Amino acid sequence: APIIQLTDIGKSYGNISALRGVSMTVRSGEVTCVLGDNGAGKSTLISIIAGLREHSTGTYAVDGEAVTFGSPREALDRGISAVYQTLALVPLLPIWRNFFLGSELTIGRGPFRRLDIASMWEITDRELRRMGIHVADLDQPVGTLSGGQRQVVAIARAIHFGARVLILDEPTAALGVAQSGLVLRYIAQAAREHGTGVIFITHNPHHAYMVGDHFIILARGEVELDAARDGLTLEN
Ligand code: ADP
Ligand code: ADP
Repeated sequence: APIIQLTDIGKSYGNISALRGVSMTVRSGEVTCVLGDNGAGKSTLISIIAGLREHSTGTYAVDGEAVTFGSPREALDRGISAVYQTLALVPLLPIWRNFFLGSELTIGRGPFRRLDIASMWEITDRELRRMGIHVADLDQPVGTLSGGQRQVVAIARAIHFGARVLILDEPTAALGVAQSGLVLRYIAQAAREHGTGVIFITHNPHHAYMVGDHFIILARGEVELDAARDGLTLEN
């Protein structure tokens, strides 16, 4: 069943029309890729989904219920979480501490509160290793990691703490080839194993094709292509 259903969404900034007639479905366990050139409307689209902006026209439904989110907090309360390039990490806090900041920021409940430091350390270590990051000392401030590594910490955190819908804005932009591969595999696994609905924004068609179940191409604010993986063939 769809988690998110956008129907005929429009968004204007004053006289500028950024989105027109955009419809899109996000399903549990699927990766939906959103591609498009600069100015196509990708940021506007995800900022609406994540509660940073309100749509001007059309319907945004979550679990079949029409919503208008006034803030990212309201979206988070429905399990819709976004990882941006400007990350919600606290640079001076240890890496493991940042990882578990997620449980307070994004869920504020569950068993994580009761974990001791050694267990939190172990979980952080395991999840980061799965993503190909080996740090000698998880006590070091997260600010000492590279931009790409910090991105990976934020993605791992969002997946681990169980977002229902995870919005990833150019998650591989700052990563090398090998690291990108690991992150993409982790994203696909998260969708399959946890039933997360992933919205993957990228400029890189190759990365999109590696993990996508569904593809939306935006052009000048409109949907130019909406296709399932099965519907894509190289002949046309
Ligand atoms: P993308 O993320 O694909 O680059 P955007 O959603 O950022 O596209 O932009 C879509 C269109 O809306 C562009 O023409 C952009 O200039 C315009 N736009 C985006 N944000 C604003 C804003 N805050 N005020 C006015 N115009 C904006
Ligand atoms: P990014 O390129 O990192 O996705 P955005 O496109 O969201 O960044 O733009 C960054 C900021 O600039 C946002 O607050 C956005 O609203 C604003 N912005 C983007 N395009 C325009 C524009 N054409 N006019 C005014 N503000 C804009």
